Amino acid sequence: MACVPLTRDLCMSRSTLLSRSIWGANIHRGLATHLARGAASAAALNVQPRSPTTARSVQEVVSDDLPTISMDGRKVAVGWDTRTWSRFHNIWLRDHCRCPQCFHSTTKQRLLNTFEIPADITPSQVEPTADGLQVSWPSSESHVSLYPWSWLQKNSYDPPLGQRETRAEKIIWSSKIQTSPPTITYQEAMAEDDRGLYKWLSHIDRFGMCFISGVPPTPEATEELSRRIGFIRETQYGKFWDFTSDLAKGDTAYTTLALGAHTDNTYFTDPCGLQLFHLLSHTEGTGGSTLLVDGFYVASILKELHPEAYSILARTPVPAHAAGEPSALYQPSPPSGYPVLGHDPVTGELIQVRWNNDDRSVMNNLDPYQVEEWYNAIKTWHKLLTSPDSEYWVQLGPGTAVIIDNHRVLHGRSAFTGKRRMCGAYIGVDEYRSKLAVLREKFAANPNTPSVLETERSIWSPAL
Ligand SMILES: [Zn+2]
Repeated sequence: MACVPLTRDLCMSRSTLLSRSIWGANIHRGLATHLARGAASAAALNVQPRSPTTARSVQEVVSDDLPTISMDGRKVAVGWDTRTWSRFHNIWLRDHCRCPQCFHSTTKQRLLNTFEIPADITPSQVEPTADGLQVSWPSSESHVSLYPWSWLQKNSYDPPLGQRETRAEKIIWSSKIQTSPPTITYQEAMAEDDRGLYKWLSHIDRFGMCFISGVPPTPEATEELSRRIGFIRETQYGKFWDFTSDLAKGDTAYTTLALGAHTDNTYFTDPCGLQLFHLLSHTEGTGGSTLLVDGFYVASILKELHPEAYSILARTPVPAHAAGEPSALYQPSPPSGYPVLGHDPVTGELIQVRWNNDDRSVMNNLDPYQVEEWYNAIKTWHKLLTSPDSEYWVQLGPGTAVIIDNHRVLHGRSAFTGKRRMCGAYIGVDEYRSKLAVLREKFAANPNTPSVLETERSIWSPAL
């Protein structure tokens, strides 16, 4: 009786097979699992044998409590359970061998010559082991690769099992964040064990900004605080900047005028990642509140209420320039610029907001039919950006610094009178992401990856 469904199911397409959820309901459990695995493994490789002879050409290895393996001339399939299979091309597996001959365990760089792998390479043997999938390759000297199960699962591309994302969830915010904005103390940020630093960077990662209280109101302490994260990124405004409102740098930032919510460096190919600033003093005057707006929050509303405008901002490149000083003329590469809303090309996730209407150059790349709809789209965007629901106003004073993710949170200020002394720094996005990743390895090791010693990174780290 058991043979009948086996024969029939071997002829089924994979989708038919997977859609059947009643596998083995009436048969002995162990047998059912075996049958399911046999049929599913053949189907997993899209092999549809017409007779048991052909079926036997599909190798299958079943070990208790280990994933099921099957292979054909092109791929190895790993069955996590009877319904979930990941297929890996033979050439992909060979290219990702991380044995000491193929991958340098210290430098974490590939040693193997990818271009010498025969296009039709096929394992001589595959075996599930407690440590992972063991694959032997045909060659004059024996070559054995071992891939940890968790690594295979995380890197499964056929189908993607969606476990690659290690980033923490973002918390988007409106003006209501004023009741409890993310804050850490200077002492926490500077503490030697780096736990406070991890907390700080995690706040920036989730909220796109964080206040630091109790900072000594000096440029020296503020610079030291900035350097906790990484190198300061030097720009035309200097390295660590410390300035008063004197228009010294040919930019509105150096005046007493109000500044609408914007991101910095829209005229750079890679705008600075983080910006930290600290008001050291404000004398003989008033005003100068700081404005913060979560660009991801505003984008989410735009997408919900005006999807067409969102789409226009996501696809229309905007040129920009910084040209206030005779000695500098910045434009991004390519000069046509980047869209206001930048997305991850793989996941489609919003990853960057670039917006400074003051620095925008001539819009000469629009098709004639796009001109009016583009102006309508930025007007809608501007309206949401400047709504009281979006704007978080805070009066900063000496002792409280703020750091913002310049790829997400827009900043501005109200006009002021008197004399203000501001200091601050830019930190590159790569330095910040690197520091956060290292601290994450240290304090929030993923239990699914092989143990990471504090001193040495695993060759199976999800980032490699
Ligand atoms: Zn190798």
